[in-house]
Amino acid sequence: MDKSKKIIIAGSGLVGSLLGLRLLQRGFDVSLFESRADMRKENISAGRSINLALSHRGIRALKLAGVDEEILSNAIQMSGRMIHTLDGQLALQPYSTRPGEFINSISRRTLNIILMDAIEKIKPDAIHFKSKLIRVENDCQRFVIETEQKEIKSMENAILIGTDGAASVARKTLFELTPHLRFNYSQTFQNYGYKELTIPPGKDNTFVIEKNALHIWPRGNFMMIALPNPDATYTATLFLPYHGELSFDRLDTKKSIMEFYQTYFSDAVPLMPDLESEFFEHPTGHLYTVKCSPWHYEDKILLMGDAAHAIIPFYGQGMNCGFEDVFVFDELLNQHMSWNNLFESFSKLRKPNADAIADLAEDNFIEMRDKVADPVFQKKRQLEMNLEKKFPEYYSKYALVTFRPDISYYDAMVKGRKQDEFLMNLCADLNKEWGEKELDEIFNSMISQI
Ligand SMILES: Cc1cc2nc3c(=O)[nH]c(=O)nc-3n(C[C@H](O)[C@H](O)[C@H](O)COP(=O)(O)OP(=O)(O)OC[C@H]3O[C@@H](n4cnc5c(N)ncnc54)[C@H](O)[C@@H]3O)c2cc1C
Repeated sequence: MDKSKKIIIAGSGLVGSLLGLRLLQRGFDVSLFESRADMRKENISAGRSINLALSHRGIRALKLAGVDEEILSNAIQMSGRMIHTLDGQLALQPYSTRPGEFINSISRRTLNIILMDAIEKIKPDAIHFKSKLIRVENDCQRFVIETEQKEIKSMENAILIGTDGAASVARKTLFELTPHLRFNYSQTFQNYGYKELTIPPGKDNTFVIEKNALHIWPRGNFMMIALPNPDATYTATLFLPYHGELSFDRLDTKKSIMEFYQTYFSDAVPLMPDLESEFFEHPTGHLYTVKCSPWHYEDKILLMGDAAHAIIPFYGQGMNCGFEDVFVFDELLNQHMSWNNLFESFSKLRKPNADAIADLAEDNFIEMRDKVADPVFQKKRQLEMNLEKKFPEYYSKYALVTFRPDISYYDAMVKGRKQDEFLMNLCADLNKEWGEKELDEIFNSMISQI
């Protein structure tokens, strides 16, 4: 591949930083432009969601860049979902029975900093902070950046890779090339918002609830989750409709918030001393899915990460999918000699997979807030665990998506949905129990049909 062309990466968030690092490692001429200040020097928010679940697809890409070990040493393993019922009972639903199959809670800030530090070890001045891509001109041959000093700089004879997130300016540029490019675009908002709150440490800086789990308070139409942080805090996130009887609209006084929490999350109330103040101080975030195509324009612009495919967070895969973009891009660099062909292959390979994980994330929202508390679903999960124990080659839909980067999101979705349907039908009878012999029959029948 021609290394003489300058590569401009718009956005040094999670995906842009990993991509920049990998391209620098491979000897490309890379500069990153990041609209925010340097989070290592100024106290700025790292962006949406304080911590994230990192799993095998993301880890595989971090390993490629040699930063997996450092990142994982800052993460907390979560081996299953800890369900908090309305009456305060706890039930752990492990993600897998195989060793090594857990997800990892990692701070967005820590992850971003490790990636940016690694970039600067190779090229100290690679990242330009407070520098924003504002537009693209001259048939995508001139990229216009507004710098910290409000100067307008333009760059020519370069490739632009837009990793500038869900509200991407690079994507807007492709949109504006319509009808020439025939750009397809959809943005679908959920009727739900989210609010991040804190569960502080207990006495002597201890974790006040199970450390190695992703906590869920499923309440049918809404839910709260909490992920652990290394400082023994948890970041709790409430997902709630904007409007209606139980909604953000109605939680507009301290009294209404406390009543709501006492009714639906009573075991969490004593753990959240700053609930009332944080509820008003912290913003309500929006949840939306972006689908678009094509992801590139000739050999001039390519989209990656949330800029190409923003998804809702209920499979914990948005960042993992973006990191997998980098992994696939790196593989394709070995196969193509022209940027145009590479961009085309990349989009062709990744688009069905990004659409699949977007759809799976929407399904999983219903599963997390509602189905995990449903007896048929719980029975099916138990049956699946028994199958996994007896037949290690059996992977649930969740495990296919989360722990099998060798299987594409699309294939995981197709296979996983068929398995789910098969097992849910069996579990409709809540009194049914299965012995060893019946498990053999179920497994054999399932693999012959799927
Ligand atoms: C509540 C919530 C929870 C989530 N949980 C998970 C999870 O558990 N696991 C998971 O895998 N994913 C999760 N995600 C998704 C994850 O946050 C995103 O998929 C991920 O951040 C995408 O990375 P990115 O680099 O593409 O975009 P971003 O992280 O948004 O980074 C984009 C960067 O570009 C910069 N930028 C923007 N515009 C410009 C411009 N014009 N010029 C220059 N720079 C610009 C921004 O400042 C930012 O630094 C979650 C998302 C949300 C909202």
